Amino acid sequence: MPASIDAQSYYQASAHPFPPQSQLNGDVTADICVVGAGFTGLSAALELAQAGFKVVVLEARQVGYGASGRNGGQICTGFSPGQQRIEAQLGKDDARKCFDIAEEAKRLIVDRIAKYKIDCDLKWGYLHAIPKPTQFDSLKEWKEEWDALGYTDTKVLDKAELEDRLGTRIYHGALREGGAGHFHPLNYCLGLAKAAMAAGAQIFENSAVVNVEPGATATVRTDKGNVRAKFVILGCNAYIGRMMPELYGRIMPVTSYIIATEPLGENRARSLIRDNDAVANTNFIVDYFRLTKDTRLLFGGRASYSTLEPPNLGAYMRPRMLSVFPELKDVKVDHAWGGYIAITSNRIPDCGRIGSNIYYAHGYSGQGVALAGMYGKLMAEAIQGQASRFDLLGRIKHLPFPGGPIRTPLLVAAMLFYRIRDALS
Ligand SMILES: Cc1cc2nc3c(=O)[nH]c(=O)nc-3n(C[C@H](O)[C@H](O)[C@H](O)COP(=O)(O)OP(=O)(O)OC[C@H]3O[C@@H](n4cnc5c(N)ncnc54)[C@H](O)[C@@H]3O)c2cc1C
Repeated sequence: MPASIDAQSYYQASAHPFPPQSQLNGDVTADICVVGAGFTGLSAALELAQAGFKVVVLEARQVGYGASGRNGGQICTGFSPGQQRIEAQLGKDDARKCFDIAEEAKRLIVDRIAKYKIDCDLKWGYLHAIPKPTQFDSLKEWKEEWDALGYTDTKVLDKAELEDRLGTRIYHGALREGGAGHFHPLNYCLGLAKAAMAAGAQIFENSAVVNVEPGATATVRTDKGNVRAKFVILGCNAYIGRMMPELYGRIMPVTSYIIATEPLGENRARSLIRDNDAVANTNFIVDYFRLTKDTRLLFGGRASYSTLEPPNLGAYMRPRMLSVFPELKDVKVDHAWGGYIAITSNRIPDCGRIGSNIYYAHGYSGQGVALAGMYGKLMAEAIQGQASRFDLLGRIKHLPFPGGPIRTPLLVAAMLFYRIRDALS
């Protein structure tokens, strides 16, 4: 089935109803204008609306259009490059506070699901599977690192133990986490939007911001109207384009693709992933997969730094899935889609302020399902005068990506290097 990255995803096909929101037309004032209705923006909007601020959210397309409505749904622990990179920059104590923030990010999801009764198929359990036997010791080191940080709900599995849980023989062991898992990200995102609206936030869809004019009162402009606000929060992540040139070079959009099979039935689905855990391999270019509530296998990966899209995503992704589960060759792929992940040069999210009242957070580097909501919360905290946690994360330095015409070719070359490294290591 030919499909583009914007083809109907499994998530859209199984989304809970959400009423279309109107377009911004004319001028409005607000305490806070949030740009982008994904996890980052909606989380900030929810916190601030609940605190009594007048919040306006501007979304270029629809709620959940970006990565938040189309990702693998995998709720991960910590930060993408691991704790050591953060320690190298901030020292052990402050890096530990960052880990605690990442732990809170997962609890925030649990709390919000309970508080706002968001129906989004949450399931705990996560397997990090190693493609090479030589990587086994790294699993023990990983566990020790997390044990030392107080996160002990993990277990190293050898090949035989892993094969009890996973219907493939291509991996050589895994680290299993009880404190990470998966959910239906679009339904969670729509639930956040409903909660923010119930708290008083106003969301405008099809309202792309073309420019933000700084000032004590900032002006956020769309083609059809303006929002004047004391604070602006930018939650645009990889979809930001060139609306804010200051931010463009700080992240790089990377495309990731996902397919969802037809429903497999409970028995066949559980023969692939016994306990319905989320699974990812430990390669730099990650394969990630899991089951859905209606027993499909959802399989993602094959990141690409180039903006060239394969002509048929389903056909492009299927061999990758069959390399893990060859017995699925008779199974139909019902959905294929993709989206943009924002990475930073060191794979740690980037956040800060432009002037004193324009806040941004982005570059979750493939681990934003939990973190993005937390960074949104921290921006809301900072606006309310509690900036210490946001400023701690903002102290992490990032090298900008090279600009100009060599930007994409350089990153395509980097990706090729990592593909070869994954194959050889
Ligand atoms: C295919 C894929 C798989 C992924 N899998 C995982 C995973 O399993 N686990 C994990 O932790 N992370 C994963 N991620 C990453 C994760 O989804 C993101 O880090 C997270 O959703 C970022 O949320 P966000 O709100 O910052 O950005 P987004 O959800 O991308 O939202 C940004 C929004 O801003 C809007 N916008 C942009 N510019 C403008 C403008 N000028 N005016 C108005 N609105 C604008 C966009 O339309 C978009 O809706 C994946 C991402 C992709 C694409």
